Amino acid sequence: MAEHDVSAASALPEMNETLFRSVLDRTLARIAFLDRDRIHRYVNPEYASFIGLPIEAILGRSVAEVLGAAAAAQLGPLGRRALAGETVRWLGWLSYPGERRRYVERVYHPVPGPDGTICGYFTIVRDFTDLKRREEELARRTAQLEAILGHIAEGVNIVDAEGRVVLANEGFLRMYGYPTELGVPGTPLAAFVRYRLNQGAYYAHENPAEDREALVESRVAALMSAGNETVEEQRPDGRTFEVRRRRLPDGGLLSTYTDVTAVREAEREVRAQREAVRQSERLSALGSLLAGVAHELNNPLSIVVAHATLLEDMAGSDPALVARTQKIRSAADRCARIVQTFLGLARRRPPERKPLRIVEVVEAAFDLVGYTLRSAGVTITRDLPADLPPISADADQLVQVMINLLTNAHQALLTRAHPRLLAISGHAREDGGIVLTVADNGPGVPPEVRERVFDPFFTTKPEGVGTGVGLSLCRSIVTAHGGVIALAETPGGGATIRIVLPPGPRAPEAASDQTERPALVARRLRSALVVDDEPEVGAVLAEILRTDGMLVDTASDGAGAQAMLAERAVDLIVTDLRMPGVDGMALHRWLVETRPELARRVVFVTGDRITTAIDIALRETGRPVLAKPFTPADVRRVVREVVDEG
Ligand code: ADP
Repeated sequence: MAEHDVSAASALPEMNETLFRSVLDRTLARIAFLDRDRIHRYVNPEYASFIGLPIEAILGRSVAEVLGAAAAAQLGPLGRRALAGETVRWLGWLSYPGERRRYVERVYHPVPGPDGTICGYFTIVRDFTDLKRREEELARRTAQLEAILGHIAEGVNIVDAEGRVVLANEGFLRMYGYPTELGVPGTPLAAFVRYRLNQGAYYAHENPAEDREALVESRVAALMSAGNETVEEQRPDGRTFEVRRRRLPDGGLLSTYTDVTAVREAEREVRAQREAVRQSERLSALGSLLAGVAHELNNPLSIVVAHATLLEDMAGSDPALVARTQKIRSAADRCARIVQTFLGLARRRPPERKPLRIVEVVEAAFDLVGYTLRSAGVTITRDLPADLPPISADADQLVQVMINLLTNAHQALLTRAHPRLLAISGHAREDGGIVLTVADNGPGVPPEVRERVFDPFFTTKPEGVGTGVGLSLCRSIVTAHGGVIALAETPGGGATIRIVLPPGPRAPEAASDQTERPALVARRLRSALVVDDEPEVGAVLAEILRTDGMLVDTASDGAGAQAMLAERAVDLIVTDLRMPGVDGMALHRWLVETRPELARRVVFVTGDRITTAIDIALRETGRPVLAKPFTPADVRRVVREVVDEG
């Protein structure tokens, strides 16, 4: 390529004033010339239209006359500096005629005259108002955005493509414990990494012995190459952060940090609750099946229990026979107790307080879970002094508490080798209450979960084994009894649960005269009618009453009873609840209407203690209830209630 002749290319024709003016007049820039007295001598059309005046109204006038006093005062010094020979650049807001404010750049160029002295100056005006307004708007929005980001709890940061912080809000600094000065824009990512390493925060795959700067570099590189992703970060303090990273169009990286600890915990809890509900549904299906079986056992058991007792009485002076019948009776008693405890547990009804010996609660619980414990080779020691004061409690509920504690101990003991020890002990408190402890030598409860074991759904056991419901149920039962349940220190390891129960009401001396009462009872109640559709149950009931000296008739249903009662009165009516046709309840209603005095002599016999509706209906009659399976002593107790009523 041929060389340019630079001097030729830049040569312009010598301009006369006419040519110069015509160029300026056509220029889109705003240009004015002012003389030494700062009077406008030339303005181009652009300049005039920007000011909003015709050219003639500007020429020959001073700055103050054209732009007003305020603008003139602002611009005066600039013009004077130009007249002193300086090229001056100025940027700022200026008021123009008609209250117009414009953001303008004004450049002043001194102009030398023919004698070389400055004869005036050109001023070239550029209008940046729109740009300035947009800039101010942007600044306002950015400030708003920063205020929002600064105040949200979530952490937010933006790093530019060079790995420098553009923005790091307070939430982010707080979540990770960074000092405020690291949040200043421009801080390199490496400074954050160094800070973390100084605090000893290494990832599992990192080797603290490695050169630190190499580690810093590799972490920064990993961060800078991260794509769009959402990761969950487990903090050493147990919190969980969700980190979302997004690549920005300019190569920067936007990260947001949310503390999801509570959310994850709630999710875990919901899962645990669902599992517990599933488990309890399974159990309740199984429970009602078993309750049905237990219920069916009631009638035959009643017969065995009652006959065994009667047989024992009949054995008289034959010691071998007495010994045998005693064995049958105590085995049958035990069966009856198990069935009764079981039905008591399956029953859903409001709690009722009765004077109770804690030994009975422990016995009943062992009846149900003792076998499981023994077959796991657990050595059980019981230290429950005979003179433990009675308490006032709901027997079924306390049995439930005991069963839960024994089950927990059993599960804990299964995880260790022999010897497996379980100790239950009780002692009286000075205030008349009692303290009961259940201790095992299993693995015990780790200190970090001690606070939580009584929380609903807290479990350390695998799904399907634990539901976390046991101890929380225990706590709510014990608390409802005015007691306290807590974990106690276990010297030598293992777990100890300690229950304190308040004293029961001063019970009137329990009647110990049951044996001498039958004769007395029979003097008051001479005749009885037993109504039961199960002939053997009716027969054994009748036999017990006859043994006590009563004249007894039997009927196999309500209608039969009504027919008999139409002919004569009796002193006592013992009726089964569930019978075909006229059932126990209907018989009682009939009596209330036709023979109110006899209605007050009714005792109900029932094996159905599970259904709440029946329970409520029974309670409304106010009549005593004999629960199947019953012993002769049970029969005598309810009969005495009728006598006591008068
Ligand atoms: P679950 O037995 O279904 O887990 P619980 O409420 O009965 O529910 O018990 C809660 C937690 O308390 C258990 O998961 C276990 O960690 C702890 N725990 C209870 N009893 C014992 C015990 N005897 N030995 C050790 N830990 C126990």
